[in-house]
Amino acid sequence: MIVCRYVMSVFTAVFLLCTGTAQAFEPLPEKSAYHVTQGGILSLTLGKQASGQSQIKAFDIDWPCRQKDDGVRCWIGVDLATEPGLYTASWQAGSATKKLQFNVEKGDFRISRITVEKNMATFDEASLKRLRADQQALKQSYVRQVDGQPDLDLLLKPAEGVTSTPFGAQRYVNGEARSPHSGVDIAAAEGTAVIAPLAGEVILAASMFLNGNTLVIGHGNGLVSVFSHLKQMDVKLGDYVRQGQVIAQIGQTGRATGPHLHWGLRFRQARVDPYALTH
Ligand SMILES: [Zn+2]
Repeated sequence: MIVCRYVMSVFTAVFLLCTGTAQAFEPLPEKSAYHVTQGGILSLTLGKQASGQSQIKAFDIDWPCRQKDDGVRCWIGVDLATEPGLYTASWQAGSATKKLQFNVEKGDFRISRITVEKNMATFDEASLKRLRADQQALKQSYVRQVDGQPDLDLLLKPAEGVTSTPFGAQRYVNGEARSPHSGVDIAAAEGTAVIAPLAGEVILAASMFLNGNTLVIGHGNGLVSVFSHLKQMDVKLGDYVRQGQVIAQIGQTGRATGPHLHWGLRFRQARVDPYALTH
């Protein structure tokens, strides 16, 4: 028997033993019952018999699992640009390799157009140099090893406000196509508190050209939050923060058309929708 529970854009699949004997799994269906959209997080619950399971493989990447009351929960990040189609997740159960298939569906991403001053859309050599350095620093932070085994089910929204630009939006800046929006923009009054969505370590605190004042928090297991356009940063590099701790204030530093928080979430480098699992 297989039970599916829809949580936000994610299906939670619960595996139950179909007989009393160990490792007697339901055969895989012809078509997958597990769906996730581009940029989503697939949340799977392996039954109690999978106790001790610490990871699951998909897209050639090992994804973390965690013991929960109802079994072992595993999370798979599906990058924004993943080609839609059928994929396989696999895990070791003793000497056997267990598999399941899941379907990645095309995300319904909207188009977002912004108009900014010319020097914030076309860049001179000095600005390009800053931009590249910023991108490099961010890239390095996404792969920083941080201790911690975050429970993704507990992810909090870091600020109250209105979602002004959703995840995945195709951006046009002064009419020119740019890379898709890799986070969510939460518009709120300047000075609104930003809290840590999960506990973690501050792995980057910098003033960036386009992103403005930016904090990156590593939550462990390759889960990383990026917060940009901050008015003020209340924590510094190397600090450990508790879940819910105030870490910054919303602002409009860098390239911003009004005060808002840009919150990006990377999961083992995959660009995922921060709202995929928030409460
Ligand atoms: Zn943004």
